[in-house]
Amino acid sequence: MPRPKIYVARTVNPNVLARLGQAGEARAWGGPDRCPLEVLEKEIAEVDAVLGTYRWTAALMDKAPRLRLIALTSVGFDMADIDGATQRGILVTNTPDVLTETVADLTFALMLAASRRICEMDRWLRAGQWKDAAISPMAWDIHHATLGIIGLGRIGSAVARRALAFQMKVLYYDTTRKREIEQQHGYRYVDQETLLREADVVSVHVPLSPETKGLMGAGQLGLMKRTAFLINTSRGPVVDERALIRALQEGRIAGAGLDVFEREPVDLANPLVKMENVVLLPHVGSATEVTRTAMLDLAINNVLAVLQGKPPLTPVNPEVLARWKR
Ligand code: NAD
Repeated sequence: MPRPKIYVARTVNPNVLARLGQAGEARAWGGPDRCPLEVLEKEIAEVDAVLGTYRWTAALMDKAPRLRLIALTSVGFDMADIDGATQRGILVTNTPDVLTETVADLTFALMLAASRRICEMDRWLRAGQWKDAAISPMAWDIHHATLGIIGLGRIGSAVARRALAFQMKVLYYDTTRKREIEQQHGYRYVDQETLLREADVVSVHVPLSPETKGLMGAGQLGLMKRTAFLINTSRGPVVDERALIRALQEGRIAGAGLDVFEREPVDLANPLVKMENVVLLPHVGSATEVTRTAMLDLAINNVLAVLQGKPPLTPVNPEVLARWKR
């Protein structure tokens, strides 16, 4: 039996290839930037498994007739055509849990930065505008405020736990009600409209899907308090960016903290870039050394498990496994 072939669609250090070598012949993209599509298409022509988050379209999968596994290095799997993978008998794995607390930390950082005007005040001081020691621009409190979480999953719950330490009142909306967590921590389950009307901070933690695209549109933003903040660390298209820009320009909400955008990297002509009351981050929710290492480890362990005939650790479309047994 020839050894399975594995392609890593990102730059990794040599010990990653050595580990993958336990299960097959592994190669990796070695360039400084993202692996170009035309390189990837050639590299995957004969592989059994690929590792890396990429726009895995059905057309790209068709360049890899032997492909059995796509091991993503992210928890979100909106960039992979899961139905297309399932139809082709390709298993997709992701990296849940290991990044939850890190993304929740960043969400809280955005919440505090936006409401306490941290980045704006830093720019203000550096621009020499602090001319009178007695003058302090005013901000908004987070402690004792009402937090509205849309999507009380792994990350949403970790954000809610942090909110309790700030004595915040936590409201949540989710398509699945989480009665146990709700009772344990005293969160209030409400419909989306009530959440938007009552929250001082709205934080979005749903996965991107056809159902959640544009979940926060003009109508939803219009329900928020004029003093409220929107925080988005989920995926850009969950928020209708044009509607958000308009709501901010018209002062219909107080500000926003964003780690994700409809188009990434953000174009500097995007009006959000010029807005003082918006904190912008370059999609760094999980970007700490420890967490990114844990995400890569989990992706590697998924590849090793599958190629060694064991169950995957974190499958996205486990129904494919039943087809493999037939
Ligand atoms: P999760 O699956 O544990 O939680 C998602 C929750 O959203 C679930 O409880 C689900 O029931 C709920 N939900 C789904 N559709 C909904 C809808 N229409 N309305 C209300 N609730 C809905 O996922 P997670 O691990 O908490 O991750 C959430 C998302 O965060 C990921 O899908 C990913 O896109 C994003 N993320 C971003 C970063 C970053 O770097 N900014 C890092 C990690 C994850």
